[in-house]
Amino acid sequence: MRTICCVCHRTKGSNGWKKQKAAGEIRISHGYCPDCYQQVIQQVYICGKALSARLTH
Ligand SMILES: [Zn+2]
Repeated sequence: MRTICCVCHRTKGSNGWKKQKAAGEIRISHGYCPDCYQQVIQQVYICGKALSARLTH
């Protein structure tokens, strides 16, 4: 099963994440590549901080 990043659409291969189409792949799993995963984590962290700041004020 191939994993494709749902943000930048890179697919995970044996040599890492590359910008290539997962053509012909029947089983594709959507996830995040390490780069986009970090961005998602940061966004969630910022949102969480903003939310908690709003709740405490
Ligand atoms: Zn990505």
